Amino acid sequence: MGYSVFGPIVDAHVDTVLDLAAGRRRLGERSVRGHVDLPRLEEAGVGVQVFAHFIEPVYKPHAALARFMELYDVFLHEVACNRDRITVVTSVRELEETLAAGRIAAVIGIEGGEVLQGRPGVLRLLHRLGVRLIGLTWNERNDLADGAGDARSGGGLSRLGVQVVREMNRLGMVVDVSHLSDASFYDVLAVSTQPVLASHSNCRALCAHPRNLTDDQIRALASRGGVMGMNFYARFLREDGPATVDDVVRHIEHVAALVGPEHVGLGSDFDGIDEPPQGLEDVTRLPRLIEALLRRNWKERELRLLLGENMLRLFRQVWQAGEEPYPVPAAEGTGAGPGSSDAGSFAAGRGRAWGGPLRVAS
Ligand SMILES: [Zn+2]
Repeated sequence: MGYSVFGPIVDAHVDTVLDLAAGRRRLGERSVRGHVDLPRLEEAGVGVQVFAHFIEPVYKPHAALARFMELYDVFLHEVACNRDRITVVTSVRELEETLAAGRIAAVIGIEGGEVLQGRPGVLRLLHRLGVRLIGLTWNERNDLADGAGDARSGGGLSRLGVQVVREMNRLGMVVDVSHLSDASFYDVLAVSTQPVLASHSNCRALCAHPRNLTDDQIRALASRGGVMGMNFYARFLREDGPATVDDVVRHIEHVAALVGPEHVGLGSDFDGIDEPPQGLEDVTRLPRLIEALLRRNWKERELRLLLGENMLRLFRQVWQAGEEPYPVPAAEGTGAGPGSSDAGSFAAGRGRAWGGPLRVAS
């Protein structure tokens, strides 16, 4: 399979796993339903796909973790059935190897911090299972933060939410701020020591929806090295009528004009939206978007950034900063002498402490 002439395309958010878990489709089989499957990703030249595991509200809060496990189990089976075409990647090395082999790199994301069930220890074990990206909330409030649909009180990150963001930084997991309330968004930027991702959010200046980011939010995200993925949902692209490819272009160019082309990417929300733009009916139509940008005089370098390199830069930076989840305390350890490191792909020896269980006020 070949990637796009602009390099492997990276899409930071699709909800395809829900269709797979419902038995409606198979990952490896081309379908006339939905927007994404392996044959269509390959045709489009996608190299990296974040597969969000969306926790439906009916499972929250108490069955959220079990529901994630159920979805992920189905997804791993689908990947195993197509192991010559797609690989779950959990490190920069695995990412590079998978791209070099021309396969699709699947990044495991979770949409809904309820999966943690209030316990940072669950976060560490989800990391061990391969999860590399988590959206702290969906639209409603949870024990980590307020969501975009539940922002009346103006609440931001909870104390537990602060602890979870710090632990995600330490483990090398991408914090996804799409769906957060404005107050939660700014709290995450204030707490996170790593760039954050808005995986599937557009511009509120062009379409006044609480799921979209204000210009001030976009500047704040970019000033800390963050990236936002453009969502293809018509209701986030324009306030009235059907959307077209040109609406996606408008949002892309708004971000690029505001903060430069280094902070915008794709987060289609395919298979999570019932109203894609006319001309972008599924992932195989991505060339239409590229053609529209070329007509707008986008240069090869800018297209490479937009279509993949910005997201790759963020993933590499955040993952590379990950440390050993269970570091040996310096006082008990034998030091970092030759042969003592079995930290694998983790950055070793920076001495940040284990994040511990939930901290309760004394
Ligand atoms: Zn979403």
